[in-house]
Amino acid sequence: MSIQDNLKQIQSTIPSPVTLVAVSKTKPVEDLQQAYDAGIRDFGENKIQEMCDKYEILPKDIRWHMIGHVQTNKVKYMAPFVHLIHGVDSLKLLKEINKQAEKNNRVIDVLLQVFIADEETKFGLDATELEHILTDEIQNLLHVKVVGLMGMATFTEDNNQIREEFKTLKNLFDLHQKTHPDLKILSMGMSGDYAIAIEEGSTMVRIGSSIFGHRNYNI
Ligand SMILES: *Cc1c(COP(=O)(O)O)cnc(C)c1O
Repeated sequence: MSIQDNLKQIQSTIPSPVTLVAVSKTKPVEDLQQAYDAGIRDFGENKIQEMCDKYEILPKDIRWHMIGHVQTNKVKYMAPFVHLIHGVDSLKLLKEINKQAEKNNRVIDVLLQVFIADEETKFGLDATELEHILTDEIQNLLHVKVVGLMGMATFTEDNNQIREEFKTLKNLFDLHQKTHPDLKILSMGMSGDYAIAIEEGSTMVRIGSSIFGHRNYNI
C-alpha cells in the first residue's frame, strides 16, 4: 500500500473534528512530500534537529508538531516555527519555551503531557503537578498558551487497560477545562490505539507507522 492509500484508509476512520497528525519521525522528506501532496499539513516529529532539517526543505505551510521528549537546551532551534509542542512535562521546560517564544515575538501553543501509563518509560506530569502548573504558573507565562493535554497509553494488548488510561486523561481534561477554557485539544491515540482514543474523546491523533510503514531506527 502506498502512503496515499494508507492515508485514505485512515482518514475514512477519523471523524472530521479530530485532527490527524502524521508522525513522520525517521522518514525521508520524500515520504513527507507524498503525504503533503495527499493533503496532509500537520506533521509530527520527535527530534528537534530532524524537524528543523525537514522544515528547511519542505513547504512552509506545514504545521510542525513536536511530539517527543524535549530537551530544554534545544527549544531555541524550533521556537521560530513550531506549531504545537505536545510533550511539555515540566515547569522548567514550560519556562524555557516561554523565554524562547518571547525572543521570537510569538506565543507558542503547548500541550501538557500527563502520565497515564502503567510503565516507567513514559514521561509526563501527575495530576498534582498538572493542577499546580494550570492554577499557579501559566498566568505568569505570557508567551506560552496551554491549549490542551497529551498522553500515551501503556503499550499492551489489553484494550480495557488502554481505554481506562484514556478515560483518566479525558476526565482530567474535562475537570480543568471548566476553569481553563483555553484547553481545547486532547492529543491521544497512535497507530495501535487511536480508535479507542477517539471513542474516549480524543481530538487529535498522532499516527506514524500506519501511514508511513514501520520505522527502521538503524539507518
Ligand atoms: C512515534 C510516536 C507516535 C506514532 O506512533 P505510531 O505507533 O507509529 O503511530 C505517536 N506519538 C508519539 C509521542 C510518538 O513518539
